[in-house]
Amino acid sequence: MGKLTPMMEQYMKIKNENKGSILFFRLGDFYEMFFDDALIASKELEITLTGRECGLKEKAPMCGVPYHSADGYIGKLISKGYKVAICEQVEDPQLSKGIVKRDIIRIVTPGTVIDSKMLDEKRNNYLVSIYLNDKGIGISYVDITTGELYTTEKNEKDINKLINTLMDELAKIKPKEIIVNKDIYDSKIRKTIENRFNSTVNKSPEWVFNTNESEKIIKNHFNVLNLKGYGIEKLDFSINSISALLEYLEETQKISLAHINNISKYNIDNYMILDINTRTNLEITETIRDKTKKGSLLWVLDKTSTAMGARMIKKWIEEPLLDKKLINERLNGVEVLIDNIVIMDDIKEILKEVYDIERLVGKISYGNCNARDLIALKNSIKILPELKEILGELNSFYLKKLSKNIDLLIDVHELIENSIINDPPITIKEGGIIKQGYNKDLDELITASKEGKQWLSKLENSEKNRTSIKSLKVGFNKVFGYYIEITKSNLDLVPDDYIRKQTLSNSERYITPELKEMESKILGAEDKSTILEYKIFNEIRNEIRNEIERIQNTAKIISNIDAINSLAQVAYKNNYIKPNINNNGLIDIKNGRHPVVEKVLDEEMFIPNNTILDTENNRLNIITGPNMAGKSTYMRQVAIINLMAQIGSFVPAEYANISLVDRIFTRVGASDDLSQGQSTFMVEMNEVANILNNSTSNSLIILDEIGRGTSTYDGLSIAWAVIEYISDKNKIGAKTLFSTHYHELTELEGVINGLKNYKITVKEDGDDIIFLRKVVRGEADKSYGIEVANLAGVPSEVISRAKTILSELEMKDINNDIDFKNRTYNKDEEILGAKDDQINIFSYKKDEIVKIIQEIDLINITPLESMNILNKLIKKTKEI
Ligand code: ATP
Repeated sequence: MGKLTPMMEQYMKIKNENKGSILFFRLGDFYEMFFDDALIASKELEITLTGRECGLKEKAPMCGVPYHSADGYIGKLISKGYKVAICEQVEDPQLSKGIVKRDIIRIVTPGTVIDSKMLDEKRNNYLVSIYLNDKGIGISYVDITTGELYTTEKNEKDINKLINTLMDELAKIKPKEIIVNKDIYDSKIRKTIENRFNSTVNKSPEWVFNTNESEKIIKNHFNVLNLKGYGIEKLDFSINSISALLEYLEETQKISLAHINNISKYNIDNYMILDINTRTNLEITETIRDKTKKGSLLWVLDKTSTAMGARMIKKWIEEPLLDKKLINERLNGVEVLIDNIVIMDDIKEILKEVYDIERLVGKISYGNCNARDLIALKNSIKILPELKEILGELNSFYLKKLSKNIDLLIDVHELIENSIINDPPITIKEGGIIKQGYNKDLDELITASKEGKQWLSKLENSEKNRTSIKSLKVGFNKVFGYYIEITKSNLDLVPDDYIRKQTLSNSERYITPELKEMESKILGAEDKSTILEYKIFNEIRNEIRNEIERIQNTAKIISNIDAINSLAQVAYKNNYIKPNINNNGLIDIKNGRHPVVEKVLDEEMFIPNNTILDTENNRLNIITGPNMAGKSTYMRQVAIINLMAQIGSFVPAEYANISLVDRIFTRVGASDDLSQGQSTFMVEMNEVANILNNSTSNSLIILDEIGRGTSTYDGLSIAWAVIEYISDKNKIGAKTLFSTHYHELTELEGVINGLKNYKITVKEDGDDIIFLRKVVRGEADKSYGIEVANLAGVPSEVISRAKTILSELEMKDINNDIDFKNRTYNKDEEILGAKDDQINIFSYKKDEIVKIIQEIDLINITPLESMNILNKLIKKTKEI
């Protein structure tokens, strides 16, 4: 076996230090990959696999991508979950003795992407760090493109509660990448996270959690002596998760990130908790079917003008508030804007001039911004005085506060205005960026090169006259510099002082001593001026970097204004009204509509509906109605109206009095989670368990069918028991909408306190049904499943056979006298699917009754005792 070549040795050394990443090794104009990396990359990127002599017996597998188009390839690998370590030459090859020094300049990971082509401008790109032990959890996340860093934590010993908290937060954050401590990494929580959030999970080194180290990392990053200012001093969990996060950034980014200059600490309990099912089912930011924004609540509410505003409104939708005062501040802001629609429209137009300042600031901090970015920043800042003025005029505490806090950034504007030309080139190393008059030395150099060029153009004319060659041209190329070009037909006229330099097929190129002299003057001045321009540009960039925090603050204000103005526009355009917010448990909606469904309906008009839910007589509404009648739409509409009100949005209704709810739960439809090895029914029961275990009397629960995934009687029994449990004030007592095709459940009205029946109306028209979509008190008599199947195009033969079977079954039902209110459990029903070990409330109650009877001591019983037992038996029978 041979010895590795020196270059391959260098490669191996760097690769060994970066085992977890695909190494992009810079060789000339290419990034090359070797060995296993080459095998992976050639497959994933569909590029040719070759080999390179490496000193060993066999060639090293190799593939490569041109450095100037590397971004696309890196993006592809990142989107597939890989990390890419970029290794560059870090010294001038001409100055190096032996092999050129190379080093990793950056490791690109899914959570640390900064290339705008790989990012969605309307979404944050979060890297999350989690620290969990048996006493609590810390969750921190950062978007390095904007510099936002958030942290939260919870002291909690119950591991299941901790995991729930974690999953709910992750559902909100939608991380691109996650780092976790060893306890999580080694447990099955990691698999759950990976499967559910389709995100790379890495392990943090344990030393970052050592108290001294973790504090040191944070203090060093923020350059502070203590962490009091961030409110995280006593909170170990937050500190641990932040230190792991910063350490990971240090390791992958290799530069200090000045724009990550603040920690936003928040309390999970200050926001409405929405678990992943609810976020999915209510289609808050994306649709269930194709995971797109179009068709989601965000799609309706996002009419922002800037990318920052778009990210902000998304954040609002994902974090509904629980504080009545804050909600009313936003609502009043929306109201005032609607009352001043001219200003509302003006703000929209003004904001269209604003670029993504948050991400521009990120670029400035990274040092990868160009002069065009600075012009974009200047143009964005330009609108601030006007924005500040018109907002200040409005009679809203919220908007006035925003206006007051806008920093006009006059100095930053002036700096860019004075220094950078209005239409600079993309590159920053080739000059042509700095305005005349900004720097004396630069002006002199530019004048020198300009004068030289004028001299050259004069030279062309004077030489034409001197030689009488009309086609004589003065030209320039990078190899030979300036030259005089003479076509072959005129060669006999070439003067003696011309020195031949290059022969082309149709012409000869010459130089003269004075041409060369001027050339060195021009090129010298040009070289110097481009170097100087680059230096000046960097100075300007650094000066702006010092003002990053001020720029970020104003950017945040702009995003808030954009978000609230978006809510106002949507409310105005769609006829939404301002909800009244209460804390007394009443949800009273008159003529509510579903904000998305009303937008997507083609010909049919959306039919509005009322809702009353409270903490007493209207705690649980059972909703029955045919398939397709609109049960799901109605229930989601109530949840969404509540959620909209809690983000501070107007709502689609004629009137709405909305009680703040701590959580919204939804259980909708059937879905398998086969990747987790769970059946449809198991998933359904997990969701039900989650609701029963975590809801409170302040929650809003939407149950769209329960118990459909098992046999009829098992399903019905579970649904029934769940209703009893939720509606019981001593157990949960939450406000609930419960849709069902188990018409038997409507018999619970009058039996269970706080339960009311509602149905969605239809009209029969011969064999057809007409959907009226009106929700009214009462219970539906049938489901019209066969009629809907007919509408859906099921073959008529199947439809008529179904009708026959249905009437036979109905006859059998009547003969067997199955009446749910008065029924008891019997053997026949077991055949329908109930298994011994499954929950069945009927058998349970029957057993109780049997037991009471068996325990009667007939000989010794007194008349009073017998009356009591009889009374008990009657009560038990009623419970069935
Ligand atoms: P199933 O029992 O089969 O699940 P469902 O009763 O839950 O049906 P939805 O899915 O809510 O019915 O509604 C079916 C369709 O009816 C919707 O896609 C929508 O187009 C329309 N729809 C629902 N509600 C309304 C309404 N209030 N006004 C107009 N159209 C409506």
